[in-house]
Order: sequence, then structure tokens, then C-alpha cells
Amino acid sequence: CGIIGIASSKKDRTLTDVLVSSLARLEYRGYDSVGVASLDEGGIDVRKAKGKVVEVVKRKKINEMNGYLFLGHTRWATHGAPNDQNAHPHIDCTGKIAVVHNGTLTNYKELREELESLGHKFRSDTDTEVIPHLVEEFMKRGMDSFSAFKAAISSLKGSYAILMIMEGERRIFFARLDNPLVIGLGEDNKNFVASEYAPFLPFTSTVVTIQDGEVGFVTPSSVYIEKDGKVVDINDRIHKLNF
Ligand code: GLU
Repeated sequence: CGIIGIASSKKDRTLTDVLVSSLARLEYRGYDSVGVASLDEGGIDVRKAKGKVVEVVKRKKINEMNGYLFLGHTRWATHGAPNDQNAHPHIDCTGKIAVVHNGTLTNYKELREELESLGHKFRSDTDTEVIPHLVEEFMKRGMDSFSAFKAAISSLKGSYAILMIMEGERRIFFARLDNPLVIGLGEDNKNFVASEYAPFLPFTSTVVTIQDGEVGFVTPSSVYIEKDGKVVDINDRIHKLNF
């Protein structure tokens, strides 16, 4: 399983080639389903299915997607059968928030019951789907997007590498606990965040490490990381890989 996010300042259809090649470089980790989300001023577009990267890309016409933010996911099912509905990304009720997740959430049943009692309708059997609904719920209660994301992450028990995009936002939110996640600083106002370096190595060898328990966001030109409510100085985290 694996995840990849790309944040670009320009809307660019060639980014789907980058995304698809990145997903292919995550294939060796094992997976049963593939999914992608893109975001532009028209909103979020999610395309996903059970199957191999090449098959799903072809069947769902992933190469025709466009946007300035992209998420990609290869799933190794832990909660919910490997099928099209359970493939990531998962969205909230309004379809304005999309999330990909690697790992397992041990308290998702309680969270789901609580969210369902508040009127949230679920579309999958995954543990992951509670995340976009939690963010939606916290925003409904008046929080801004990053506060809502952090509140959702604090509600989770288990392990995760999470990426989230949201309509109206030009950034990819991330959180990490007991699952790998790294950032790649690209050229031309393009940044990456992924499970490992391999997916973005053809585009950049300048990386920023993320540690367990950290949350933050990646924009096309910047990175912000926080731990326990305190800002992390990312200059201490930037490395040039020697290959
Ligand atoms: N627990 C999630 C699911 O079953 C994520 C699995 C993964 O890491 O790919 O959908």
C-alpha cells in the first residue's frame, strides 16, 4: 500500500502522468485497489476501483483528470473487502473533502456510530471513511480547515499516514503516526508528499522528513509542520539525497 500527493501552483494535465508513474513506483509494496483525487476550481474529482494501476488508470480515464492538487492511493485492505466502494480516496457527505490513508484505525467503530447518530451517511466499510466525516463535522461546528483536520487526527487511535485535500484550499494536509510519510521539494512550484522517496525521486532529491505525531500541510511552494501544537523549524529537516 502507499500514498502520494502532488501540490502544483499551475493547473496541469501532465501531472496525471507524474501521478500514475508515482503510483507505479508504489506497486511493489502490494495492493488490491487504486484511487486518485484531483482538485481544481470546479471541485474534487475522485476516480477509484479494485484492480491493478494500469487497468484502473485505463478504465477510469485517470489520464484525463486535471487540477492543481492530486492525491493517489494503493490500498491493502484491512477493514472492508477489496472492492470499488472501499478503494480510497474517501469523501465527506458533501464531496468537498477527500482523504487517503495507509494504516489501521482501532476506534473507527465508535467514531462511525457517533457520526451516524449526527446524520453522516457512509458509503464504504472502511475505517478510513470516518476521517473526512470528522473534518466535515468539526468545520460544521465552526472550526477552520486546519483546526478541523487537527481535531479529527486527535480523535483517531491506531496507525496512519493521511493526506487530505479540500475544496477552496491550495494545500495538502498531512498527518503521520507509525506509518511512513516524507515530503519532496520539487522545482517550478511543485511539492510532493508520499509514503517513501521512490515515487518522486525522478522529480526531486530534496526531501523534508516528517516524524511520528506530526501534522501539517504542503502548498506548491512551502511546507508547514507542527508537533504538539508547536511549529517545527523545517530548515532542520531538509536533506539532499545523494544518488
Ligand atoms: N485501513 C484502510 C483500509 O482498509 C487502509 C489500508 C491501507 O493501508 O491501504 O482501507
